[in-house]
Amino acid sequence: MRLTLVLLLSITLGFCQTPAKFYRSFSAMGCGFQVTVVANNANDADTFLSMAVNNIKRIEGLISSWDEKSQTSRINNAAGVQPVSVDPELFDLIKRSLAISRLTDGAFDITYASMDRIWKFDGSVSELPDPDRVKESVRKVGFQKVQLTDSVQSVFLPVKGMKIGFGAIGKGYAADHTMNLLKSNGVSAGIINASGDLRTWGEQPNAESWQIGVKNPLNKNKVFVLLPLTNQALVTSGNYEKFITIDGKRFAHIIDPRTGYPSSGLTSVTVIASSAELADALATAVFVMGKEIGLDFVNQLKDVECVLVQDDGTVFYSDNINAKELK
Ligand code: ADP
Ligand code: MG
Repeated sequence: MRLTLVLLLSITLGFCQTPAKFYRSFSAMGCGFQVTVVANNANDADTFLSMAVNNIKRIEGLISSWDEKSQTSRINNAAGVQPVSVDPELFDLIKRSLAISRLTDGAFDITYASMDRIWKFDGSVSELPDPDRVKESVRKVGFQKVQLTDSVQSVFLPVKGMKIGFGAIGKGYAADHTMNLLKSNGVSAGIINASGDLRTWGEQPNAESWQIGVKNPLNKNKVFVLLPLTNQALVTSGNYEKFITIDGKRFAHIIDPRTGYPSSGLTSVTVIASSAELADALATAVFVMGKEIGLDFVNQLKDVECVLVQDDGTVFYSDNINAKELK
């Protein structure tokens, strides 16, 4: 009798564990992350959330160009000198980054990084830099220059002073990788959100899809569109946080690698795609392309959608987007 009761109790307890959402916020890769997991209890959730934090910090240690000890810094420090062999994870990320450069005709380019020295988006630049300096910085840019050797997983930047940086793809990559890690550990649903670069999977505990709100760039507190996501990624690149104004013209912190000048015209670009890595890189590329070319480009890609906001506040949607505009 007692045994049956205990058994019954533990079975009931087991079934009573209704899935719920659990969150953790932390800083990494120079931004705020929030990880959401759907789990049966706080204990499980804790394990999964710690797993996510550790994985994101591990990736940061591998790809950060700010960290002098990272493999990325080793590649940069050896530019013009010698190739550097790296972990397959970094090698593959570089390979995929170069493929996205080809897809976007160089609008997205991890070798943009040497131009970061000229354009500082911390308020210290108030006039256009010397055109010769801009020209000189472009000389060190170009994804076509990067030399990869598969057999030894080595990367060589042939020009001295050339640099790579994952500012426009790293957070997306970290979101995808962390989602895969959690999924393989049995987490059925969640969101990895890196300050607006986010990856969702599964459904909410109430069986509804995740709804993501995009804020109005001209009114930071107001969500202007809701986008339902199912196993998709959504990334917003906005120049309303980091930008410079020179002679009344607004420049985004996203630089056209082909000209060396920051892009202008758009205030926010949101891209939805099947991976956060792709969405991240494409949001940056569309920023560089501008409204006309950017919209046309996205409309040609399968399973990629976008929402663009122009500097004057006008909103543009790609052809097949599923969006609920809020009044
Ligand atoms: P956010 O800063 O909102 O995450 P992005 O994902 O678009 O915006 O990334 C912008 C960052 O990417 C810049 O701060 C810079 O480090 C880097 N970057 C700027 N222009 C380019 C470019 N054309 N291609 C690749 N990376 C870029
Ligand atoms: Mg990006």
